[in-house]
Amino acid sequence: MNSLEEIHERLKACDACPQMCGTPVVGNKNKTGLMLIGQAPGPHEASKGKPFAFTAGKTLFEWLHKVSGLSEEELRAQIYFAAVARCFPGKNLKGGGDREPSSEEIANCRQFLIAEMNVLKPKVVIAVGKLAISEVLGPGIFKKSAPLTDIVGKKISVNYHGQDIVVVPLPHPSGISTWHKKGPGKSLLVEALNQLALIDGGLKKKDATATDRGSISDN
Ligand code: SF4
Repeated sequence: MNSLEEIHERLKACDACPQMCGTPVVGNKNKTGLMLIGQAPGPHEASKGKPFAFTAGKTLFEWLHKVSGLSEEELRAQIYFAAVARCFPGKNLKGGGDREPSSEEIANCRQFLIAEMNVLKPKVVIAVGKLAISEVLGPGIFKKSAPLTDIVGKKISVNYHGQDIVVVPLPHPSGISTWHKKGPGKSLLVEALNQLALIDGGLKKKDATATDRGSISDN
């Protein structure tokens, strides 16, 4: 797969995972050096035709707006949206939200992440949620069983599928998570968003100058 057009065509036609519920979800074909990797779409994203199109997306875009001043549309134009798995995995039958993609499903879908890394060669990757953070950093740096307090607020340089990138981890903006609303999580989220706005190749404010990069506080 040598172009975003080819990757998206292959993605849309993919049916490699029999337990996935929805059809594959793809974002804009932005040729940008800033990539976001999420976990998997929720139940509504396929019908809306874009990732982060519902409740979790509303929270995510609010976070990114706070530090950049950009609208959802402007953020979708600046960031390439990818995910560890591109289909809705179904609900977790034991309760607690959506089913986490299995390691086999993640392995099936990794070909698309590898192809996207090869085509886009991003400088900065925003990894959203423990599964995506662990996928990008590898379990040697972050195991998904580890607490988010170990990793959110840091920027980590790694080589991911042949590309040197800086990873900015964010918590998952899922409505069932309270991690980012209180205690250390709230401050660490602010630190992470500030990293994202200040880092070379990170989120650019609209009409930003060199001295006008975003910075917010948790007050
Ligand atoms: S999760 Fe990925 S590999 Fe599995 S069917 Fe969907 S697009 Fe294909």
